[in-house]
Amino acid sequence: MLWRLLTSVGQLVLPVHCAACGAAAPTDRRWPLCEACGREMADLISSPYCPLCGRRAGPHTVGPDGCMFCRKYPVRFSAAVRVGPYEGPLKTLILRCKYERRPAIAGAVGRLLRERLALAPWADQVDLIVPVPLHWTRQIARGFNQALAVARHLAAAAPRARGVSSRLLRRTRPTPHQTDLPAARRRKNVRGAFAARGKRDAIKGKGVLLVDDVMTSGTTIGECTRVLTRAGARDVYVAVVATADYNEVGPW
Ligand SMILES: [Zn+2]
Ligand SMILES: [Zn+2]
Repeated sequence: MLWRLLTSVGQLVLPVHCAACGAAAPTDRRWPLCEACGREMADLISSPYCPLCGRRAGPHTVGPDGCMFCRKYPVRFSAAVRVGPYEGPLKTLILRCKYERRPAIAGAVGRLLRERLALAPWADQVDLIVPVPLHWTRQIARGFNQALAVARHLAAAAPRARGVSSRLLRRTRPTPHQTDLPAARRRKNVRGAFAARGKRDAIKGKGVLLVDDVMTSGTTIGECTRVLTRAGARDVYVAVVATADYNEVGPW
């Protein structure tokens, strides 16, 4: 009781801080950013991206068959949505969500991603929402899977999906962080690192939405897509909070 009283008083008198830069007094408490970071975020959100592979794209480089990048290196999945590029306040929010286990931040970026998903022409084809899993050792160490935390906010935009299917995909072994590895090693690193589980027909014929926080080379998403397709998925769609620019050749 006393604690509840103290925290409610604290909320009244303590300044609220921007989740990206720490500046005081954001205008809207549902949206944890100050005005400057909010403007920067709006720019990131409005930057064009390829609806097939999710990567940064100029307005004239994207056609019905994708962008320059995915025309050269076709993706395994059918289409993608993202909130923005992995930069500025969006990058800071993702890192804080991941390393400080902040469900409130997962909620903020999850809602943005849900708005994107709601506009995707394939949103009503999604039967299952599947977050990219952590290996159980990392899950225990971190206590938080940010992909799952974000995925929980997406169901409202996918009318056919019933909640989040967080147990259909399993990470079979811990893998070194992809960020430390060059392209060829990334592929080798994740090859065979995921497996489908559950009933044999759980994935068969289904439209699957694969969810992660950041897509960089796309090797993790690509490997998960391969496993889901082998388990019979009709289509795999991708929803990521951010995509990072990645220029090494042959990333899939
Ligand atoms: Zn700020
Ligand atoms: Zn593309």
